[in-house]
Amino acid sequence: MSIEENIRQVRRNIAAAAESVGRDPGEILLVGASKMNDAAACRAAIDAGIDALGENRVQEMRAKLAEGAYTGAPLHFIGHLQRNKVKQVVGTVDLIQSVGSTELLEEVDKCAGKMGLVQDILLEVNIGEEEAKSGFAPQALYAAAEAARSLAHIRVRGLMTIPPVETEPHGSVPYFEKVRALYVDINRDLYDNSFVYLSMGMSSDYEDAIRAGATMVRVGSAIFGARDYGRA
Ligand SMILES: *Cc1c(COP(=O)(O)O)cnc(C)c1O
Repeated sequence: MSIEENIRQVRRNIAAAAESVGRDPGEILLVGASKMNDAAACRAAIDAGIDALGENRVQEMRAKLAEGAYTGAPLHFIGHLQRNKVKQVVGTVDLIQSVGSTELLEEVDKCAGKMGLVQDILLEVNIGEEEAKSGFAPQALYAAAEAARSLAHIRVRGLMTIPPVETEPHGSVPYFEKVRALYVDINRDLYDNSFVYLSMGMSSDYEDAIRAGATMVRVGSAIFGARDYGRA
């Protein structure tokens, strides 16, 4: 299957999932998670109408940027971001999806301030409260969202999550529903319902995420094929 055919199939699945719960498929953005796929693959996805591309690693993103991989589509940063790499991402990407600590919030704000811009971000929530994962703990999220409001060079557009790896079918659903509830509360109480992005769902569970309210899904292998970790 080609990237183009894969995207067409994912779009069909998105539409079916949205319609099954009475939602408009047009309100769901498809982000191609393009890590470990080359510039040509990124361009093929853009030609096939992907809504945005998301990268995980700063170095890989910078290299592919230099090759013109993302021309014609918004670029998101979706991976774990180290503080010392913030300046290579702020102002370069349209959305940093993975801001998951107070330190990172402050660093992004500081860096955006120096560049004289406002950086769009999502707050990442570690909904499974996993030790090894980044993101705000659910009970810390409200305070973080409140603190972020006072940072002049950041604009919070919503929430992002990566739930624990599930082996049972539909195992992610309870996590998605919890994040959706946090999104609704924080959006209403702190952000005048100005949020636009609830980013959740990957190749194995994006339809469940949409049924639970996602407005943005990040799909990698179902579009680009299995990643070849042996090559890296
Ligand atoms: C790789 C990745 C995805 C996509 O994963 P697939 O299972 O290949 O769809 C989504 N989100 C993030 C943050 C990722 O790193």
